[in-house]
Amino acid sequence: SISPATLSAISNAARKGVLFKGGIHVENLSHIKAIALDKTGTLTKGKPEVTDVHVHSSMDETYVIAVVGAIESESTHPLAQANTTFSNKKEKLSSIEVYNMKNVSGNGVTAIVDDKKWEIGKPDFVGKQQSSEFLNGIASELAEQGKTVVFAKVEGEIVAVFALKDTVRKTTKKAIRKLKELGIHPVMLTGDHELTAKAVAQEAGIDQYIADCLPQEKVEHVKELRKKYGNIAMVGDGINDAPALASANVGVAMGEGTDVALETADIVLMKNDLARITNSISLSSRMNRIVK
Ligand code: ADP
Ligand code: MG
Repeated sequence: SISPATLSAISNAARKGVLFKGGIHVENLSHIKAIALDKTGTLTKGKPEVTDVHVHSSMDETYVIAVVGAIESESTHPLAQANTTFSNKKEKLSSIEVYNMKNVSGNGVTAIVDDKKWEIGKPDFVGKQQSSEFLNGIASELAEQGKTVVFAKVEGEIVAVFALKDTVRKTTKKAIRKLKELGIHPVMLTGDHELTAKAVAQEAGIDQYIADCLPQEKVEHVKELRKKYGNIAMVGDGINDAPALASANVGVAMGEGTDVALETADIVLMKNDLARITNSISLSSRMNRIVK
């Protein structure tokens, strides 16, 4: 049965917008030594915006932007939504017909438009070795600014680079600083490119990051962190994050995250504010001292 001290900790946390799904998680949270954090939607707002577009001179820019927007309109990925919003602001999509659109989780999308195969996604997915030095140069520069780089490829030729910038949440930096003060080691996990990851981690004040992480690889990294640190928490918001949340000693979901993440998590942050988890960690260790 649940002790009065635990119950009081849970109700105290609930008043501060942190939902514990059971007493055991209060105890587990008090033991964590490291915390893995998803980048998009957890450290950042998860609302990226297109900031730059470079289209190869062999293609019509208006057409490329319109096609990318039309294809991405069939995906719910935050990057896809940003590409569609950008495209809608600039170009008319009505005449473009998209066939056979496919989501490739953690990578991008493919589709057929005007009888040509389009691939849109991260550099490794579309095959950056096939792009010109010109486009690769632009891509690295954009990634170093913390922007996510998306390539568009038509029939095997890379024709455009899109850069998307997401904003680090106001509360992130302070929360990371507090975690470090509590002696808890933060690690950022992301499917994004190394250069982008490095810039965002730096902005958030996180020293260790793991980039180019496919959704299923997040689970492996959580398991490795468990081996190294003993008890770890994982914070995420997306469908992709659910298996990693389940693999951590304590899974924490951002309240505005997807249903799957909310269901899988042990703790839900009702407001998307990381500071609430650091407060709960302090609370849980205090409670644990009282109980023992
Ligand atoms: P994260 O781990 O940052 O939440 P994902 O695992 O969902 O990201 O995706 C990893 C990378 O794959 C993205 O950074 C992006 O480059 C690419 N990607 C995924 N889906 C799309 C899409 N619909 N359009 C463009 N790029 C995409
Ligand atoms: Mg995310």
